[in-house]
Amino acid sequence: MPVMPRPSILSVEPYVGGESKVPGVNRIVKLSSNEGPFGPPPAAIAAIAEAGREAHRYPDGGATALREAIGRHHGLDPARIVTGNGSDEILALLILAYGGEGTELVMSAHGFLMYELTGRWAGCSVIKVPEKNLVADVDGLIAACGPRTRLVILANPNNPTGALLPQSEVNRLRAGLREDILLILDSAYAEYVEDPGYDPGQALVDAGTNTVMTRTFSKVWGLGGIRLGWCYGPPAIIDVLNRVRGPFNVSAPAMAAGIAALSEPDWVGKSVRHNSEWRARMTQGLEKLGLTVHPSHGNFILVDFGSTEAAKAADAHLRSRGLIVRGVGVYALPSCLRITIGTAEECGMVLEALADFRHG
Ligand code: PMP
Repeated sequence: MPVMPRPSILSVEPYVGGESKVPGVNRIVKLSSNEGPFGPPPAAIAAIAEAGREAHRYPDGGATALREAIGRHHGLDPARIVTGNGSDEILALLILAYGGEGTELVMSAHGFLMYELTGRWAGCSVIKVPEKNLVADVDGLIAACGPRTRLVILANPNNPTGALLPQSEVNRLRAGLREDILLILDSAYAEYVEDPGYDPGQALVDAGTNTVMTRTFSKVWGLGGIRLGWCYGPPAIIDVLNRVRGPFNVSAPAMAAGIAALSEPDWVGKSVRHNSEWRARMTQGLEKLGLTVHPSHGNFILVDFGSTEAAKAADAHLRSRGLIVRGVGVYALPSCLRITIGTAEECGMVLEALADFRHG
């Protein structure tokens, strides 16, 4: 008999991401992972190099200076922050700690893929609730929760749809869930939201003992390659995360990069202004070509080509010009492509390529 993992693990396909090559094409423009378009903040590049000089030492296992810097930047108590190797790690730890065999995890049908993958390998039954016009359905999410439900996870804004659930609806979701259900608000794209009523999760976390907010340095902060995310939560949940995380789960260069990024003047402002301008221009440009663009509150747009064949052909056409975007068949949206907002030049290249695709 071969050694075998728990059966649920073999039901999960390995995650494939980060593709950055097209055979035969020299210049690649990668718009498939919702990375910031401006590279890393310059102060972070310098800090990573500097941290390398001490790379023979283990990092601070408590990430004290980083948690303090995050706390100062966001007005949060550093004692209620845990940092991780990307927010993916923190999401996985929460799912393993609060879910597992015999429990249910409830999510929106087109919610972020990792909830389902991690939920399944953790042994949870994953319940996917249909949306209304691709926006999470609060009544459906509440109704889907049964006695075994331990976790509800909502990305707001959501990836890959770009949809934003209004704050009153997020509040109604929390109020409609039993107290023993952990609500995870995944606010990976929080910085891009322009709705003045939006709260990435702080208020709901502070209002109770059963809601957490996860955040990342991978998107607006331009540090996807360094792997750095964090969670803000009630003391008892932070305590659990500190028990289950690896002792040195954030590397010294990652900590240094995060602290330096937070000190970069107007980095978020500059990125958000660019994003908002080019998200609108891309949306209008593609709508003029007769394509459907779902309203997005993130740094990407979800474009519907009308059929799976058309989306595949558009993808191939973009690739032939070195433009790598994301097919979302895995999210059961096979007629759509998700396109990250790049630099002005990169957005121009996508618009031109798709105009040629539609007219040529
Ligand atoms: N949540 C959402 C909604 C995301 O889109 C992503 C990145 N694709 C993540 C979490 C994970 O981000 P990271 O692990 O890089 O922090």
